[in-house]
Amino acid sequence: MVSKALPFTKEKISEIIAQYPTPFHLYDENGIRENARRLKEAFSILEGFQEFFAVKALPNPYIIKILKEEGFGADCSSLPELLLAENTGIVGESIMFSSNDTPADEFRKAKELGAIINLDDVSHIKFLEDEAGLPELVCCRYNPGPLKEGNAIIGRPEEAKYGFTREQLFEGYRYMRDKGVKRFGLHTMVASNELNPRYFVETAKLLFELIADISGELGIKFEFVNLGGGIGIPYHPKQEPVPYDVIARGVREEYAKIIESNGLAPLKIYLECGRVITGPYGYLVTTVRHMKHIYKDYVGTDACMANLMRPGLYGAYHHITVLGKEDEQPCFKYDVTGSLCENNDKFAIDRMLPQVQRGDILVIHDTGAHGYAMGFNYNGKLRSAEILLRQDGSFAQIRRAETVDDYFVTLDMAGLNSFS
Ligand SMILES: *Cc1c(COP(=O)(O)O)cnc(C)c1O
Repeated sequence: MVSKALPFTKEKISEIIAQYPTPFHLYDENGIRENARRLKEAFSILEGFQEFFAVKALPNPYIIKILKEEGFGADCSSLPELLLAENTGIVGESIMFSSNDTPADEFRKAKELGAIINLDDVSHIKFLEDEAGLPELVCCRYNPGPLKEGNAIIGRPEEAKYGFTREQLFEGYRYMRDKGVKRFGLHTMVASNELNPRYFVETAKLLFELIADISGELGIKFEFVNLGGGIGIPYHPKQEPVPYDVIARGVREEYAKIIESNGLAPLKIYLECGRVITGPYGYLVTTVRHMKHIYKDYVGTDACMANLMRPGLYGAYHHITVLGKEDEQPCFKYDVTGSLCENNDKFAIDRMLPQVQRGDILVIHDTGAHGYAMGFNYNGKLRSAEILLRQDGSFAQIRRAETVDDYFVTLDMAGLNSFS
């Protein structure tokens, strides 16, 4: 039987539910911290290694604060994300600002915070110069186009809206060099949820070679390379986690071959992962509200796409445990649904589970990244609470559930009465 272990008992969940009704996302602090340490340890063989947590994956300041304690910076792409980082005390070059189609006020805020600005387009150099002034340090995002095969979620690079072409990079760095920019970085992000470690080594090689070419032609020195995010997680119990040390050692080898041998060291190595940092340590806990038997058998939960979009959006697999029935045989086939008036509001289709009954508690795994964060209010559905399971076994609500008042807060209901 394929299964995934849980870092909590049914009793603990009952205790939490007594205080905070389902649905909620539950995050395992211990798992997050241990994983952060494993990642740092594996990548410590790389020059100046730094991880910038992609805030969009889990934009909760309590989580970001935990990650800050573990030595991570923040990768932000909007004004609210910059403010989240600032509020947790992450400022200066511990922020990577990797945005696209960027408004002027966000560039200004990023510059004010002293963040590393990662430009998405050659035209943004002049835009930044005019709107905020060029900072001393600038990074550019590379889109390798047909040079690099993409993967399922992010697509093929030549179809992707992100980044500079190779020619534009030469043009852009030359312009900035002539304008007095002194420090440079290079970035790319061409994968999402990629489980093959070689993919990241290949990406590093591509960037190292490009740095050698640009440095040679323009006589500029690169300070860092940002390999982006995109390290995948084993959503399915039959998949394996990505071995960090295989990526780190592979990158180290390419570094020796291309960077050190061309006299381009030291070059710091950065990552901006989100999913792999928190994804496996989040759980959507939901109660079975109704069982429905028509042409198929449906498990209707008290959660819906407002709480977790990935299955409906990408057909993504999320493992489901029926709490307390871990040892029962999965002999029943169900579609596990939410309550949206959208037929793709399903957490699982044709999933084999033990027999499910009303009132059962389902744990939907791997919701710690791109889970809560993607939620929306379609159909008047409200987003859930977020609970942190602390290392000492206690729990804390780190975001309350939305209420109907939150749903109406952007509307002037009083004005409606005088409106005709
Ligand atoms: C989404 C995103 C990330 C994080 O991606 P993960 O798949 O969560 O690791 C990092 N950088 C950029 C620019 C992104 O858009």
